[in-house]
Amino acid sequence: MIVNSIEKGIVIDHITAGTGHRILDFLNIDTKNNTVAFIMNAYSQKHGRKDLIKIENVTDVDLTVLGLLDPTATVNVIENGQIVKKISLELPETVVDVIKCKNPRCVTSVERNAHHIFHLMNPETHEYRCEYCDDIVNMKGE
Ligand SMILES: [Zn+2]
Repeated sequence: MIVNSIEKGIVIDHITAGTGHRILDFLNIDTKNNTVAFIMNAYSQKHGRKDLIKIENVTDVDLTVLGLLDPTATVNVIENGQIVKKISLELPETVVDVIKCKNPRCVTSVERNAHHIFHLMNPETHEYRCEYCDDIVNMKGE
């Protein structure tokens, strides 16, 4: 499959196959005004199957969110048809207002204005702990 390269924008490459749709959901990209190409199950010699997302005319995305969802993905920033920056992601230590605590008794479920704060607990399993109630969320293939 050939998708035209973009002049300016962002390419999120080496996304773990099957994770791309979650990334699109969380990044909340305005697909009405931006051209977005989403390729599922592309074949990569190095990584086997992968997903790939290209977003035209957008040059900054939330790297915390991306690292949280798929730390092995890479972000390429494109300007004038060239890669001007390659960003490697990592699992963030703390995430604020990205994941929501599912515990109905948690203060964040009760108080509308409370921030949803999670701390990385286990980098192997991608488990995050709610700051308030210690509930655990597993971000690996949820
Ligand atoms: Zn909680």
